[in-house]
Amino acid sequence: MSDITAQVPAFLRELLEKEYGKTAETICRGFVRRPVTLRANTLKASAAEVSAALGGAGIPFARVPWYGDAFVLCGEERAFPSDGLFGEGKVYLQSLSSMLPPLYLAPAAGENILDMTAAPGGKTTQLLALSGGKALITACEKDAIRFERMKFNLARQGAARVNAMQTDALKLDEFLRFDKILLDAPCSGSGTLLPDAPVKISPKLIENCARMQKRLLQKGLKLLKKGGILLYSTCSVLKEENEEAVEYALSLGAKLVPVSPFGGIPLLPGRAGTVTVCPDEKFEGFFLAMLQK
Ligand code: SAM
Repeated sequence: MSDITAQVPAFLRELLEKEYGKTAETICRGFVRRPVTLRANTLKASAAEVSAALGGAGIPFARVPWYGDAFVLCGEERAFPSDGLFGEGKVYLQSLSSMLPPLYLAPAAGENILDMTAAPGGKTTQLLALSGGKALITACEKDAIRFERMKFNLARQGAARVNAMQTDALKLDEFLRFDKILLDAPCSGSGTLLPDAPVKISPKLIENCARMQKRLLQKGLKLLKKGGILLYSTCSVLKEENEEAVEYALSLGAKLVPVSPFGGIPLLPGRAGTVTVCPDEKFEGFFLAMLQK
């Protein structure tokens, strides 16, 4: 697999070197095309059913030790048919890194959960599935087109009971209270660069994202019940969007609940108790931290 070391913009390379030293090289080498990964949508099909269907269709796959519903396809992307399992919503195409936040948030039956910035809804349906279909989930998305995409995905995944709201999360009613919140924040995507894909990241984008992330964090903490948990995640590896956002939440009175990384996931050094995934041939760069009000 070819990486994009030479395509990484100079400013980003310098920033990664400033933040990670020599490990910046490893990060840049991890910007590669990855195998298709998917999640059995247990609202509609068990992992055993998905495994049997993939086997029956002659699609080779591997599993991961930390999540029984995750599948890594070993063949070419185009070998995966878009009808059948996928068309029926029995599986959801999702990167391995992006399966992590719902697992850490561990939604349970009856919990009142807000997915603050939710489209296209991959983590929303995973949250519902992990609760056995029994959490009360509100999914909020600002962008009209992405909201429609999310509604479509929710319906196809058998998650139409999710309360989907097309609104700016910053405008949610101040008096709402949730047991748990997922803030999978809009970010620069610095952990997800790919060869031959347009690189949209710029210093201005990083600055704007960092500002919005803090505003969303402040709002999320307001909307949380006392003792409630907010899971903050980004697909960025930059401290400006990760550690600095966490520091900001702590300055507002939140507590950091340390999380331990699952085995076999490539890690970058970071603030103790948080997880920063290093991009490699299986994982996108990713960050997560758990905060308690
Ligand atoms: N969690 C989603 C998933 O797994 O499918 C991905 C979320 S994506 C990283 C961030 C989303 O936040 C984008 O769809 C963006 O339009 C939305 N967004 C950005 N600012 C927002 C705001 N103030 N209120 C609600 N949604 C917002």
